[in-house]
Formats: sequence, structure tokens, C-alpha cells
Amino acid sequence: MLHANYSKMKNKYATVFKELEKHREKDFTFKSGRILGSMCTQPHYIAEKYYKMFLPTNLGDPELFQGTKEIEKKYILFLKKLLNAPKKSTGIICSGGTESNITAIWIAKNLSNKKEIIIPQSAHFSFEKIKTLMDIKLKTVSLTKKYVLNVSEVKKKISSKTLAIVGIAGSTELGTVDPIPELSDLCYDQNIFLHIDAAFGGYVIPFLKELGYNLPDFDFKLKGVSSISIDAHKMGLAPIPIGTLMIRDKNWLRAISVESHCVSSKTQSGILGTRSGGPVAGAYAVAKYLGFNGYRKIVKRCMKNTEYFTKKIKQIGLKTIVEPTMNVVSIKLKKPSLISKKLAEQGWKVNTMDKISSIRIVLMPHVKRKNIDSFLSVLEKICRESGEI
Ligand SMILES: *Cc1c(COP(=O)(O)O)cnc(C)c1O
Repeated sequence: MLHANYSKMKNKYATVFKELEKHREKDFTFKSGRILGSMCTQPHYIAEKYYKMFLPTNLGDPELFQGTKEIEKKYILFLKKLLNAPKKSTGIICSGGTESNITAIWIAKNLSNKKEIIIPQSAHFSFEKIKTLMDIKLKTVSLTKKYVLNVSEVKKKISSKTLAIVGIAGSTELGTVDPIPELSDLCYDQNIFLHIDAAFGGYVIPFLKELGYNLPDFDFKLKGVSSISIDAHKMGLAPIPIGTLMIRDKNWLRAISVESHCVSSKTQSGILGTRSGGPVAGAYAVAKYLGFNGYRKIVKRCMKNTEYFTKKIKQIGLKTIVEPTMNVVSIKLKKPSLISKKLAEQGWKVNTMDKISSIRIVLMPHVKRKNIDSFLSVLEKICRESGEI
């Protein structure tokens, strides 16, 4: 009887497994090295391990999970160090850059009671969500020839209704960094909330600077910077979903705090209620394991691959929209959608950017030299057949 039950159970497992595996097989995988346009990557193996260990924990109910809460505090301390944040700063763990950006503007709006934000044309589409979510007017500023925000235009757009200005440190499409030091001076002088979207660049720029790359400052070292979005589930090699909104002054949390009944904490400040400690433990485990040195090595390898890839595409006669500032390359094409489609047919996934007539390649850690070489020969062939070169 026992035996019969066991084999029944085994059959049931097998059925579930088969069904799920069938679906999973349709996915592209990071491990194949064929996802070339995504800003996410295969999580570090250590992240995977601790993600699983902390899977059942709920940071929305911190007294039940005091140990996990301690890990969250340690992780925020790591980010404070990475971003030169002052003592009174803190971080709000979010699900990613979108939620971090929403939370930043939510705080700034409640602190000021105003209605408008100034964003660059290169801003992530999450600001479009912010617009209707919070009934906020977006004032968009054009970019310079180098595809960074035009500061003199920002000055013209500031009004008594401005609740925040947004600068991007590592833009989603091109990886460009806005002139944040100038924005910082401007916002500090005029007492305007300055939010920096470093969802992608936050885990890249500090290490590139250490490696001697010439990039502007973007973090709390600049006294006008009020908040920073930084995603661990991109170059932080953490499991999805985790991003963090870092804020200069922890007292600002009060602007978005509500009394929380039914759970152990008295107040809650942030969009989410119940949220897993898994991604936080994952992000902290990688941070602890790699440290700044480990991340710097990974960033260095990604940049070397970026420089190699850029040199090669120029050799085959293609052009970039801008010289890559970080491990993001955009290839200028006449028909980006068509080329993307043909690449996908050959099993390569890149991102299409119709607005700037290009395709985006992100040289994430899962993309190896041999992947780059195989991709380049396919890209060259398709581009020749399609009259791009
Ligand atoms: C990725 C990204 C976002 C959005 O982050 P999600 O994690 O996808 O929500 C926002 N801003 C920038 C600059 C990004 O690169």
C-alpha cells in the first residue's frame, strides 16, 4: 500500500515537472549567452542559495523575522558605503527600478505638495507610470549631442510647481550619465529634490571610476543629491526582484509612512506590504562574497568585452549611436526591428529601440567572448543581406 502511494506521488511530481519544464524550455536563458539586450543576468550562485534559504521570510512583518531584518540593515549599510551616503540616510528595499522611482517621487511630492517633475528625454518609462499614478505633470528636457540632459534647458523649466528634478546615471537605452554635479549645484541652491536614477549604473559607475574611467560623480558625495535608485537585480547579480531607493535623510520616510495594523511593526513606509526576504538575502550574500573588489573585477571584464565588441562592429562597418560609457552598446541601424527579428530567428535576443533607430546590446556578465564572436558573425551576415552595410 505504502509502495503504491509512493509511486502515485512520484507520478504526480513527474506530471507537474514535465508540464513546467515544457514551458521553461521555451524561454531564452542567460546561461546560453544568447540574451544580449537585457539588463538582468544569471544571479550569482551564492545569491541563488540564500534566496532559497530565505524564501519563506516576510519583511513586511519584521518582528517575526528579526534575523532577516538584520540582513536587510546590513545590505543597506553596504549600499550606503557604495554610494557615499551620509549617516542619517537610509534605504527602502523595492522590487526594482520602477518601484524605486515611484517611491522617490512619492516622497518628494509629499514633502513639497507640488505637481511637476523635470525629467530628461532619456528617462525610463516608469516615469510615465508615475504621471498617471500620482497625477504629476512631466516636463521633459531635451538631450545634448552627447545624449545627456541639457542643464540650461532644465533651468528654464524650473517653476514654483517643480517638486523634483530627475537625473540619470546610466540611461536605459544608451548607458549615458547626465551631468549630475551641475544638477546637484542647481538643486542645492534652489532647494529642489534631486532624484538620481542609477538603477543600472549604481552597480557600475563606482567601479568604473575606481578603474580610472572618467565619469561624473553621481552619488551622495554631491550635496544636492536627495535620492538614488539602484538595482541589485541588474549588475548586482542578485535574484529578481530587488532594487533599492536610497534617501539622504531617513526622516523623509515619515512623508510616506502609514500606521500598520495586523503586523508587528507600528508603521510601514513603502509601496509593498508582504515582501520576501529572499532577494534581500541574495543581494547581501553576493555583496558580502564579492565585496567591492569582486564587483570591480566583474565590471572590468564587462567593459573589456564592451570595448572589444565596439571595435569589432566598427570593423564590419557598423556605427554606434554614442561611444559606450558603460557596458551598453547601441548600434545605429536603418531598420532595427527587422534586424532584431532576423537575429531572433537565429536564436539571438537583442533589444530594439525604434525611437533612436538602433538595437541595444548589454554586455552583462553572462555574455562571454565566445558568445560575442558567434554573434558578430551572425550580425554581420544579416546586416549585409539587409543592406545595412
Ligand atoms: C532598469 C531600469 C529601470 C527599471 O527598473 P526595473 O527593475 O525594471 O523596474 C529604471 N531606470 C533605469 C535607468 C533602468 O535602467
